[in-house]
Amino acid sequence: MDTIPVFRPLLEEDERAACLRTLDIGWLGMGKSVGAFEAAIQSFIGAPDRHAVAVSTGHAALHLSLILAGVGPEDEVLTPSFNNIADLQAILAVGATPVFVDVHDDTLCIDFEEADRLVGPRTKAVIVMDYGCGLADHDRAADFAKQHGLRVIHDAAHSFGSTFRGQRVGSFSDMTMFSFDPVKTITCIDGGVLVVRSEAELTKLHELRLIGMGQPVNVMYENRRAWTYDVRGLGFRYHMANLHAEVGLAQLGKMDRIVSSRRDVCRQYVRAMGGVRGVRLPQIDLENAVPFLFYLRVPQASRDALREHLRMEGIDTGIHWQPGHWFTLFKACRRGDLSVTEKLAAEILTLPLHSIMAQTHVDRVASAVRSFFEGI
Ligand SMILES: *Cc1c(COP(=O)(O)O)cnc(C)c1O
Repeated sequence: MDTIPVFRPLLEEDERAACLRTLDIGWLGMGKSVGAFEAAIQSFIGAPDRHAVAVSTGHAALHLSLILAGVGPEDEVLTPSFNNIADLQAILAVGATPVFVDVHDDTLCIDFEEADRLVGPRTKAVIVMDYGCGLADHDRAADFAKQHGLRVIHDAAHSFGSTFRGQRVGSFSDMTMFSFDPVKTITCIDGGVLVVRSEAELTKLHELRLIGMGQPVNVMYENRRAWTYDVRGLGFRYHMANLHAEVGLAQLGKMDRIVSSRRDVCRQYVRAMGGVRGVRLPQIDLENAVPFLFYLRVPQASRDALREHLRMEGIDTGIHWQPGHWFTLFKACRRGDLSVTEKLAAEILTLPLHSIMAQTHVDRVASAVRSFFEGI
């Protein structure tokens, strides 16, 4: 019996051909394909007035977003403790500290009433993350930021392709970050994008991602280099490479198939596991959300036994995530009441959801969960 992994990218002939084509051209670093990938992302999210900048990882995009937001030493950034470690490390990377906010029990996204209580004089930004197969309240995020004079960084690593009030994610937030790491809805092998609004931020990002070199982007996007340029500020080696951008372009070309498969699998999971005693299913709006991960909440006392049962059935499961405030590194960080986070962290379990998942795998997962709870 093959083991069903939690995540699996959809890699076909297109990706293989794209890699070989790029290797044959021989310009592997940042160049033409990166420009093409940025243009494709911008057109996909429907934001002609915004700028998508491709970088090496989602973490790099978050780090650069905090620099653009002017967040620095002694500053604070509000974000859920129930979060990816990349967000928390990005905050530390600019010398700031996270302030841990609880999440809503239904969406598992940031609770703005809690955030309101935690805003302090050093608060500069809020990182609002969409989780799993749902979206945060982005209207509330914009109001909250306006009221307190904060920048909003929208971590949309889980929600690429989703829409909120008819608008594609990436087209409405102050700044939006995507990750295209190996397991995300679509992958660039490793990659990230930051979407910003102003020309000034775009120019700054171009330098920040290229170790501060003021290389004209239009030259680089012809697979050429300018050998003379100025260096005006801090920079990192965070650019995206052509090879990775080509994989991303091939993936974008099959987005429709990926979206319908992910939605269909979630619909089947909900149908098969709804009503199973002991299982709490996520709230999913399959009209608007493109699900990235599918999770269950089960009684704390049965989670480990369920994981073991699934493992014996050849089904891998994940835990997304252990909350940030549990880690040694973040013990001293300021926080609000985290009772929802504490509870859900002990109950949550990620089931396999692939970019296109085999029907036999979907059936095996659903029946193994049912057999655990129903003893059949
Ligand atoms: C994957 C992920 C990140 C980090 O992206 P990388 O590309 O892996 O650096 C950040 N936030 C969330 C919610 C993620 O899922």
